[in-house]
Amino acid sequence: MKNAAYFFILSIFILLSACTGSSESNGNNQSDSNQRCAQCGMPTEEFQAWRGKIVGTAATKHFCSPRCLFINSQAHSLAPTDSVFVTDYYGQTLIDGRNAYYVIGSDVIGPMGHDLVPLASQQAAEEFMQEHKGQQILRFGEVDAETIKGLGK
Ligand SMILES: [Zn+2]
Repeated sequence: MKNAAYFFILSIFILLSACTGSSESNGNNQSDSNQRCAQCGMPTEEFQAWRGKIVGTAATKHFCSPRCLFINSQAHSLAPTDSVFVTDYYGQTLIDGRNAYYVIGSDVIGPMGHDLVPLASQQAAEEFMQEHKGQQILRFGEVDAETIKGLGK
C-alpha cells in the first residue's frame, strides 16, 4: 500500500514535469507569475521587467529584482548546482545569471531602488553604460555585500 502511494505520487510528478519541461529548460515559465520575492515578499509578477530566480535541486526561489536575488544568495550561500536566472534589461527574457553582465550606478531604478541591471552581453552592457550613465560593469562573481551596500551612492 505504501508502495502504491509512492508510485502514484511519482507518476503525478513525472506528468507535471513533462508538461512544464519544455518551457523550464530556458528558464521562462508561465507558472513563475504569481510568486512572492523570497527576500522581500513583494509579488514578483508586478516586476516582470526585473524578476529573477534561483533554481536549486530542492526548491526554486523567486525574486523581484537582482538586488534581492544577490542579497539572498549571499545570505544563504549559493550551491554550485543552483541555476541562477535574471531578466535581461533589453531582451526582457530570463538569462543565465552567472553569465550575465551587471551595470551599477546607472540612472535606471528597479523595484527596490538602485539596482544591478542585468545585460546578456558585454556589448549590451557597454551600450547600457552609455545610455544610462552607468558607473561599472560587474560579473556575477564580482558582486559582493559591499556592492549591494554601495548601490545608489
Ligand atoms: Zn524583493
